[in-house]
Amino acid sequence: SPTIGVLALQGDVREHVAALRHEGATAVGVRRPSELDAVDALVVPGGESTTMDKLLRAFDLHEPVRERLRAGMPAYGSCAGMILLADRIIGGIDGQQTLGGVDITVRRNAFGRQVDSFETDLVIDGVEDSADDPVHAVFIRAPWVEDVGPAATVVGRVGEGAAAGRIVAVRQGPVLVTSFHPEVTGDTRVHRLFVQIVRDSL
Ligand code: GLN
Repeated sequence: SPTIGVLALQGDVREHVAALRHEGATAVGVRRPSELDAVDALVVPGGESTTMDKLLRAFDLHEPVRERLRAGMPAYGSCAGMILLADRIIGGIDGQQTLGGVDITVRRNAFGRQVDSFETDLVIDGVEDSADDPVHAVFIRAPWVEDVGPAATVVGRVGEGAAAGRIVAVRQGPVLVTSFHPEVTGDTRVHRLFVQIVRDSL
């Protein structure tokens, strides 16, 4: 089975590890460059992107992760992870930088202060059965994708309500990003898609 690392500097690491194991991957935390070297792919969890950005530098992981991404390592980012894997960011603070990898512009905390969190059902291209049995998506101070460049493909949009039409899932080759947190719902189909992407890359 593929070995998938979960960036373990901050955020909801355990939930991703559990979902990846449920889908048959070997999942390990990554805090050091040597641990990064040992994995086939990397998940960047939800949490706080500004904190993770600082910790990536403090742990000497920023450049090594960028290098792996440039070399084609599969990656999946949820929420803060989506922000970190985006090429461009709106609403970052203190010169916040991203790792990049996906040709999108994300807007941090896009859904607004009034509605910090909301839930909706989504159809996501590539996620098994999601047209018939939508993915229940949980958004927590989430970003949305403001702009998609030619290298990236939209795979999910909000279907209804005030945010209808907003782009919340994007794929670029072996890199997948979602605004929401599939790791907190017990539905592991998004992780199943990512594990399959990783298998296909080996
Ligand atoms: N608002 C957070 C950030 O900017 C993301 C929130 C989350 O990951 N749930 O990083």
